[in-house]
Amino acid sequence: MPTTATPTPPTRPYIGRFAPSPSGPLHFGSLVAALGSFLQARSRQGKWLVRIEDIDPPREMAGASDLILRTLEAHGLEWDGEVVYQSLRHGRYDEIIEGLYRAGHLYWCRCTRREIMAAGGFYGGHCRELGLSASGCAARLRQRQPVYHFEDALQGRISVPAALAEEDFIIRRRDGLYAYNLAVVVDDMDCGITEIVRGADLLEPTVRQIALYQMLGAPVPAWVHLPLAVLADGHKLSKQNHAPALALDEVRPALWQALAFLGQNPPPELAEGTVAQMIAWGIAHWQLARVPHQPTILFGGNKPDT
Ligand code: GLU
Ligand code: ZN
Repeated sequence: MPTTATPTPPTRPYIGRFAPSPSGPLHFGSLVAALGSFLQARSRQGKWLVRIEDIDPPREMAGASDLILRTLEAHGLEWDGEVVYQSLRHGRYDEIIEGLYRAGHLYWCRCTRREIMAAGGFYGGHCRELGLSASGCAARLRQRQPVYHFEDALQGRISVPAALAEEDFIIRRRDGLYAYNLAVVVDDMDCGITEIVRGADLLEPTVRQIALYQMLGAPVPAWVHLPLAVLADGHKLSKQNHAPALALDEVRPALWQALAFLGQNPPPELAEGTVAQMIAWGIAHWQLARVPHQPTILFGGNKPDT
């Protein structure tokens, strides 16, 4: 009998992305995430897309989207194709929400943040069987197949506390805004993203995102969570604590430092090179295994409205 060759699953071409929120200018921590995802994609001859996550207008800073794009260009981080704006994709999010509702994957919940906090910080399924209608309610996903662990290519196997894994989470908020977890998964799915490289502050929502991919019947991308740049006091650099914006007039010191922060050992003389030389060096020498990482513990700290 002829032996049948085992069909090899079609490998999808590598597509990565950087997905900043326009709540302020990019800082050194955002540069690390942008550069890490860019080098990981380019060193695999992959595409690298940029998406502006403008789904939360109250948190936006006027002009930040354009400033972010100019900052990426100034640092030699050229993206493929058109920039995706989440503010232009509401119809698509509604369509997905509608489909999830029809499939019985979501229900409406009227619990307030205060009620959930008073009950210990985790939502316990209060409205699951109440059959509430949409008005004045948040949309919650019914967790039927909780994800208790996943593999991160840098951090290793991540275990997730049951309370976090099993919680029905919000995909559309009571105030009508789409939740980050919904928008990020729908967009990454629609763009065919094969690997998500981002900061380790986003390790925790990953389990929810995996659960959502599974409910949507979409392939789950690979994950890489990069170390966070922290301030001397241990706090992460963020827009909230007013991390300084990246300079646009002389970008090379930050670029060299970001390569060093990512563990790539850029030679000192590269600091005198051009932006293009730094980027070319980064692509040619990129090794994910060199990126420093510490074991990461998930606390399951809850953010009910996101
Ligand atoms: N927009 C998110 C942020 O700026 C990042 C989303 C992601 O990379 O998944 O923190
Ligand atoms: Zn509820």
